[in-house]
Amino acid sequence: MIYIGSHVSFDKKDQLLKSTKEAISYGANTFMFYTGAPQNTIRSSINNQKTLEAIDLMKENQIVLDKVIVHAPYIINLANRDNLDFGIRFLIEELERCEQLGISMIVLHPGSHVGKGVEEGIKNIIHGLNEVFLKNQGNVKILLETMAGKGSEIGKNFSELKQIMDGVIDNQRLGICMDTCHLNDAGYNMADFDSVLKDFDSILGIEKLNCIHINDSKNERSSHKDRHENLGYGTVGFESLLKIIYHPLLKEIPKILETPYINREKPPYKKEIEMIKNKEFEKNWKDSIEKEALENVE
Ligand code: FE
Ligand code: FE
Ligand code: ZN
Repeated sequence: MIYIGSHVSFDKKDQLLKSTKEAISYGANTFMFYTGAPQNTIRSSINNQKTLEAIDLMKENQIVLDKVIVHAPYIINLANRDNLDFGIRFLIEELERCEQLGISMIVLHPGSHVGKGVEEGIKNIIHGLNEVFLKNQGNVKILLETMAGKGSEIGKNFSELKQIMDGVIDNQRLGICMDTCHLNDAGYNMADFDSVLKDFDSILGIEKLNCIHINDSKNERSSHKDRHENLGYGTVGFESLLKIIYHPLLKEIPKILETPYINREKPPYKKEIEMIKNKEFEKNWKDSIEKEALENVE
């Protein structure tokens, strides 16, 4: 048994019920969503009736609420002092929304230091997270995501994430979300994932790994680009990703696809999840989805 799903949408009206239905349509048993548009702060209040309906539907479809993930919006940048107060406030609101939805984990990009240097950035992130945990005494975990190192992103290696962990007082409320595209772009060799995991374990401890984003990458290792690719079409490759998904030490960890839509309009997730379950790559699978889309237009 593995926990596999994808990014899905969440809307104002049907909220978690909409996300759940979308995940079911892909054959997923977990999923991840933003509580609103990731690039703005407009959020509607949580509709408890829709949440209850969603949880019932999850139970009927073997989706485990404990494995469902929220992704914090990327306008939160705790590494930048100028945006820190806003980030703290908004992150606290996100934690409250998670609590109301029954979600136990939220993924957060550590932040970008925007020219002020890694040390200053990490200091701000630690300060921000300490404030957030001080003002929110709930038990939703914040998962720091491993980043590609694009621009001035912090979290491009395990030791930067470890420095954040060490500075946060309530760090039992912190975990890590690996992103396979970001790790590749940051310079990790995904073809030798056992070594990557060993490195992770010696620096952070394997128990800190709580979620994995499964993405192929459009770019070479160490490119620091962060452009996701569909499974089997990138530089990481289907076999390496499959090994990570079925890794015996990572069975309980939810795996979430964030691969691009085909021609920007058709979600690839049903097919990608099917191939993962079959443990077999279908050559040119994107072509068949493209063809299907064309036929629907005609
Ligand atoms: Fe992310
Ligand atoms: Fe990601
Ligand atoms: Zn990314």
